[in-house]
Order: sequence, then C-alpha cells, then structure tokens
Amino acid sequence: MIKQNNLFSEAHYMCGVCSEAVTNPLCPICLTTEIEAWLTLYPDLGEKLLPKLKTYIYNLKNNLVESTQCIKCKDKKAEVCPYCFTELVLGELKKINASPFILREFFEFFNFDLHHRGYSKEAEALGVI
Ligand SMILES: [Zn+2]
Ligand SMILES: [Zn+2]
Repeated sequence: MIKQNNLFSEAHYMCGVCSEAVTNPLCPICLTTEIEAWLTLYPDLGEKLLPKLKTYIYNLKNNLVESTQCIKCKDKKAEVCPYCFTELVLGELKKINASPFILREFFEFFNFDLHHRGYSKEAEALGVI
C-alpha cells in the first residue's frame, strides 16, 4: 500500500479500524445524518438499516477516545474514517438485500474510496465510477 500523504502533522489521529490517518474526517455521526436524509426516499430500507447504524454509533460513543476533529460538527469524534464507516454501511445494505439500484446510488453519494483499493471495484461493476 502506497502512503501518499506525508503532509500530516503528528496531530493526525489514525482510524480505529484501518489504522490509516483520517484524511477526510467526517465522523460516523454526521455520515449517518446524511445517510438518514438519503433514506427518507426509501423508508423501508431506512427502517432496517438505521437501527443498526445507531447501535454502532452508540457503541462508538461509549468507547470514545479523543480523535480527529470532524470537518462538519467540529467534535473530535472522527475516530473511524469515512471509508471504513461507509464500507460497514455497504455491508449492512447487502445483508438486507438492497437492490443494485440502491447500491449504485449509495456509491454516488458516499464514495470515500479515494485510493481505489476497496469497494471501488464494486462501484465500477455497477457502472458508477
Ligand atoms: Zn479506516
Ligand atoms: Zn461530525
């Protein structure tokens, strides 16, 4: 894996899941708010998915250590990078059999695989990127 970012100061925290520096710090709580907004279009899906995300966030909050400041809410809660969090959401979407249409839309809105080493391949297969 190539490390492209040597610009970071010591103050950058690592993602608690993948151990990479959190380069695009948007906390799971803010991301869930965005996902929730998206899912108002698909209430059935929201009913299945959102309780899982809320449980995840609840557990995260209980184990919170000081981490990267979120660019949106400015709280130091971006302990999990947006990639890891959206990958988790993608996994949950698949578990509840979300259609390829939904997955495609999810990738359109929430693609944080900036280094193209994770779920981008799936997004490519769906013709999103
Ligand atoms: Zn991560
Ligand atoms: Zn936030």
